[in-house]
Amino acid sequence: MNATDISCLRILDRQMQRNRLKLSLKTLILTLFFTSQLSWSATVLLYHHISTTTPRATSTSPEEFRQHLQMIEDEGFEVWPLSKITRYLATNQPLPSRVTAISFDDAFSSILTEAAPLLEQRHWPYTIFVNSKAVDERHSHMLNWQQLNSLQSRGAELANHSHSHSHLVKRLNGETEEQWTQRMRTEITTTSKKLKQHTGSESTLFAYPYGEYDYPLQAIVRELGFTAFGQQSGALSAALDNTALPRFPAAGAYANPKTLRTKLLSQAMPLAKVDIISGDEINGLTPYKVDIPKLKLQFNDGNWRLGQLSCFASGQGRIKTHREGNSVTVEANQAISIGRSRYNCTMPSNEAGRYYWFSQPWIRFSKDQQLPND
Ligand SMILES: [Zn+2]
Repeated sequence: MNATDISCLRILDRQMQRNRLKLSLKTLILTLFFTSQLSWSATVLLYHHISTTTPRATSTSPEEFRQHLQMIEDEGFEVWPLSKITRYLATNQPLPSRVTAISFDDAFSSILTEAAPLLEQRHWPYTIFVNSKAVDERHSHMLNWQQLNSLQSRGAELANHSHSHSHLVKRLNGETEEQWTQRMRTEITTTSKKLKQHTGSESTLFAYPYGEYDYPLQAIVRELGFTAFGQQSGALSAALDNTALPRFPAAGAYANPKTLRTKLLSQAMPLAKVDIISGDEINGLTPYKVDIPKLKLQFNDGNWRLGQLSCFASGQGRIKTHREGNSVTVEANQAISIGRSRYNCTMPSNEAGRYYWFSQPWIRFSKDQQLPND
C-alpha cells in the first residue's frame, strides 16, 4: 500500500467517524423530541421466522428485519419490553409518543441465529411466546430450553403461547363446555409451569395460537391473570380489553417497510366502547359464529375526523359504516369467509401523518364446526 492510499484511507476513516457522530446526534435529537411528548397508545410488531427458507406467510427475511429495525430507530421510537408497555397501560401511566415492542410467536430457531444478534447490537428487548410441547419434543426449527434460557439472559422476555399450539377455540367432538374449560386451563398452566421450571420466567403475557380467541377463552385467560394478544392489527390502549390486544404482523406480504411504517406509527382508535352485535341482538357468548357480524364503535368525546373513518373487511374491500353522533356501526357487505377474517378501521389522527387504527378479528366455523387447517 503506498502513501496516497494510506492518507486516502485516513480521510475516509475521519469521514466515517464524522458520519457516525452525526447519526448518533440525529438519533439523540429525535429521541429527545419524541419522548418529550406523551401518549396513551403503543404498537407491537409480531414476527415468526426470520428466514428466507421457511413459509413466506410467516417469514420475514433477515434483510427485511434489518430494515424494520433501522426504520424503528430512524422514526425515533423507543423499544420497550412488552411487559413494561402492558404494565403502563394497566396502571394508567402515560407512554412516550413513539414506543413499540417486538414479539415472536413459536420459539423458532431463527430468532437465535438471525434476530437476536441484530436486536442485541441495539440493546433492544423482545418477547418470545413459547409453545412448550414443540420445545419439549425438540421439533426441527425450534429452540430448545437451554437456548431459550440463554436468550433470556441476553435480554429476551419469555411468555406463554399455550402447550399444544392447537386451535384452542375448537371444542373436541362430544366435549362439554366444562371439559373444554378444564383442557384450556391445562393448556395454559402447563406452559407456565414449564417456563418456570426451565427458565424461571413467571410471565403473565399470553399469545393465542393463530390469534384465535372467543369470549369463553378470554374469560379463562383473565381468570388465570394473563394479559393476552391476538394477531389482529391495531394499536394498544388501556381502553381495549386486555385479553384481546392487537399486534401488527410483520411477515410475508406485511413485511414491506413502507406499509409497516404507517402501522408502526399508528395510534389507538379513541374508542370508549366496542360492542359486537349480531343482527339486532348483542351476542354475549361467542360473536364468531355469525356470517355478517355487526360492530358498534363508540368514540370518546373529542374532536375526531369521524367522517374520514374507513373500514375494510378481509377480501371485501371497503365496507358499510353508519354514523349516529359519537357511534359508528360497521358491517360487511357480504358473508365473511370461513376461518379467520377481520374488520380493519382507520381514521386520520389529530397528529399529522399518523392514523388511528382498530381491528376486530372474526372466526367463522364451517357448518360442521371446522376451521381451515394452517
Ligand atoms: Zn404460534
